[in-house]
Amino acid sequence: MNYQNTLAFAQEQDRNDPLHHFKERFYFPQVNRQDAIYFCGNSLGLQPKSAQMYIDNEMYKWANMAVEGHFKGEEPWFNYHELLAGGAARVVGAKDNEVVIMNQLTVNLHLMLVSFYRPAGRRFKIITEAGAFPSDQYALESQTRFHGYNPEEAIVELFPREGEHTLRTEDILASIKAHGEELALVMMGGINYYTGQVFDMKAITKAGHAAGAFVGFDLAHAAGNIPMQLHDWEVDFAVWCTYKYLNSGPGGVAGIYVHERFANDPDIPRFAGWWGHDAKERFKMKKGFMPMEGAPGWQLSNGQILPMAVHRAALQLFGEAGMDNLRTKSEQLTGYLAFLIDDVPGGEELLEMITPRDPQARGCQISLLVKQNARQLFDMLMEAGIIVDYREPNVIRVAPTPLYNSFEEVYRFSEILHQCLQRH
Ligand SMILES: *Cc1c(COP(=O)(O)O)cnc(C)c1O
Repeated sequence: MNYQNTLAFAQEQDRNDPLHHFKERFYFPQVNRQDAIYFCGNSLGLQPKSAQMYIDNEMYKWANMAVEGHFKGEEPWFNYHELLAGGAARVVGAKDNEVVIMNQLTVNLHLMLVSFYRPAGRRFKIITEAGAFPSDQYALESQTRFHGYNPEEAIVELFPREGEHTLRTEDILASIKAHGEELALVMMGGINYYTGQVFDMKAITKAGHAAGAFVGFDLAHAAGNIPMQLHDWEVDFAVWCTYKYLNSGPGGVAGIYVHERFANDPDIPRFAGWWGHDAKERFKMKKGFMPMEGAPGWQLSNGQILPMAVHRAALQLFGEAGMDNLRTKSEQLTGYLAFLIDDVPGGEELLEMITPRDPQARGCQISLLVKQNARQLFDMLMEAGIIVDYREPNVIRVAPTPLYNSFEEVYRFSEILHQCLQRH
């Protein structure tokens, strides 16, 4: 696309954008009594206007049916998770029964590690990206300790080459190969939260399997941001949260994916609870765990209906928009952002884009390393009505989402960035 640095061009793109109207289906926070330019969907997605209605429905059922709501009515809570499976499966590219919506992300990561990090003999190492989100680091560290290993020895962190900010796929694959028989697990982000780099999940999975290891991804920054084909890529497991790009509310319910070749295996080790037990037998309260088929067999507790109701509202929007349409717009929108940032006078000296330039290697987030007084620039942007986020020590993350952001907002951002740089 031939971008132009004018408001008229941006507005023209919005007029031609088939997804533009989705903007009206979200609430925008107010700054200086107008809608903020909200580029923070990578941290907390906006509230779909329909979420209230979905919650109210369940509140109404609770008020009027109380315990009967578990089994009676049109959408009983007993199998409420099934209402989410199709929409969630399409977001990550899986079969319906390979996903289940439950718990929260870090809890789910631990549950998946119980099943897929099973070190034995020489095979005990985990390959992961250096600088992974801290919760993931702590989860891996504590799991290796739990199995009696020293995390320093068991966890292999991959660093970018000297002078580079992101990992090269060839280096990731080479490292997997080099650790070969010592490798128990490859566990990385699908997209790194800090740099916004998309990892080649298909190639990494293939290499991990060739080395005889399991392969799983944390999709916190990928789910709802880029299309994926977890099933076809033969990824073993994945986890994600729903409050970022998936707009399902602070601390919202999370998801897991388990490839069917494990999901349907009753003998795979797992931590069990009654909600993962064979649904027909669940209320017989009998001894002896018999897992449900598929990812639902990892459920522990009865469903968190209120956050699930919000997630349903959000998945409805994703279903209407379609991940492929969102991706098409996203590449154009984020490409426009990169083009405009490059064009901002004074940007060259102060800002470095650490997100990959290749559109295939990034989602909608662009991370700007600010060489001087990063925090001050961030504060100026926020005061001017732009909501982005700041990550220590010097990075501002800017994420225009294709679902509710516009080309005009990206244009206005670049104007405000320009004004801020003049005062910086
Ligand atoms: C946002 C995020 C988390 C947060 O974990 P919670 O359990 O939802 O608090 C973890 N890992 C990654 C990669 C994230 O981006």
